[in-house]
Amino acid sequence: MTVAFPFDNTYARLPEGFFTRLGPTPVRAPRLLAVNRRLADELGLTLPDNDAGIAEVFSGNALPGGAEPLAQVYAGHQFGGWSPRLGDGRALLLGEVTDRHGHRRDIQLKGAGPTPYSRMGDGRAWLGPVIREYLVSEAMHALGVPTTRALAAVATGETVLRDAPLPGAVLTRVAASHIRVGTFQYFAARGDTAALRTLTDYTLARHCPEGETALDLLRSVIAAQARLIAQWMGLGFIHGVMNTDNMTLSGETIDYGPCAFMEAYAPGTVYSSIDHYGRYAYANQPQIGIWNLAQLASALLPLIDADEARAVEIATEAVDGYRPAYEAAWTQVFGAKLGVAAPDETTAALATELLELMAAAGTDFTLTFRGLAQGEARALFADPAGFDAWAARWQAHAGPEAAARCAAANPAVIPRNHRVEEAIQAAVAGDMTPFERLGRALATPFTEPADAPELMRPAAAHEAVHATFCGT
Ligand code: AMP
Ligand code: MG
Repeated sequence: MTVAFPFDNTYARLPEGFFTRLGPTPVRAPRLLAVNRRLADELGLTLPDNDAGIAEVFSGNALPGGAEPLAQVYAGHQFGGWSPRLGDGRALLLGEVTDRHGHRRDIQLKGAGPTPYSRMGDGRAWLGPVIREYLVSEAMHALGVPTTRALAAVATGETVLRDAPLPGAVLTRVAASHIRVGTFQYFAARGDTAALRTLTDYTLARHCPEGETALDLLRSVIAAQARLIAQWMGLGFIHGVMNTDNMTLSGETIDYGPCAFMEAYAPGTVYSSIDHYGRYAYANQPQIGIWNLAQLASALLPLIDADEARAVEIATEAVDGYRPAYEAAWTQVFGAKLGVAAPDETTAALATELLELMAAAGTDFTLTFRGLAQGEARALFADPAGFDAWAARWQAHAGPEAAARCAAANPAVIPRNHRVEEAIQAAVAGDMTPFERLGRALATPFTEPADAPELMRPAAAHEAVHATFCGT
């Protein structure tokens, strides 16, 4: 017996050219690895009453009642190179529900089998990236960052072939929507202005109900992405694959492929094994944000003004708004990290100076900021003289309550790469204990896990992970 979810599928009611309808390809032996019951409850979903039943649903073997599965089409710039048609090559949107707060949320299976957009791919995912996305997306949520969520992870009992044969898995992803910059680019590149208008109106209704025009939408996405990327920077988060198909209109972080949290602070840090030129390095992320938003702006031009030169002028002005919005958001984020109640230019300068000291000393990003609250940061610097001079000015600027505010803004636990790797290796061997232990600590990242202090520590030299791999 399968279940029904309270679906109301607005995307499936868009014109046929927006997607291809098809169902998941069944898997041999689904086995539940993880299910997010709090999220299921928030979504108003009643799950089957046993793990086998849940695994049937979230592997795609048993479609919940009301689902109208489809693969969405989109295009995108990948590492700057244009692809006129990407689309969901291994993901299927099951449908949309309205959560307990009244927000519409997509439920999507990732790794559900081939689609017309699979190109050379097999439509599947292996366990490693499924575990990574589950842990990291849930951690980002707990850290207060807008993000897609993880509802379930199911092992398929099948082998997928990458560099080696690996265990297959399916992730169930929940998102405010899966509309990407690349979705707009797809229709714009085809010169399909009618579809572009339909998509714009649809996206306005879903993500910017107070707006009416393409320009309103563009401005609100620019503001949301400026805030989002500033939050990434405040956590040392490196997305790793900021292609335009991986940038959402909702302002949520999406697509946790080769992402990683930086340990020793170095602005040029790159983990992704395919990012050979460091395009998506930590320090480049804000600039890539503008680049991607400029692609969105250019896709929207025909809707902004009938006179192309005028449209370019208006769109350019909107995109120019990104930098001040980003800088203001950065000052807020790093001001909070320094425990400053009302951050200003002096706060921003202090934050920049601390980052310079950290870069010179190579201190751990997370521990340094966390250590500001407990007075433990100093010990991280081999030569503390520079830090001491900085700290004296910081304390004078931030005031006596700074330390308490710091503790609330700087996490104790982040998904450190070697711990995520450890959870993956164990899961491959059939042991979900490290995944569960890490996930528990990450659910309350501002509280030090008394029973697992090792999760707060950076990797020792022999544990360090230097490269991460795409979800493919
Ligand atoms: P990503 O790097 O995950 O953002 O994926 C980029 C594009 O490649 C998207 O169109 C994906 O659907 C597609 N893709 C990634 N992995 C696979 C796969 N194993 N099979 C089919 N398509 C895939
Ligand atoms: Mg993607």
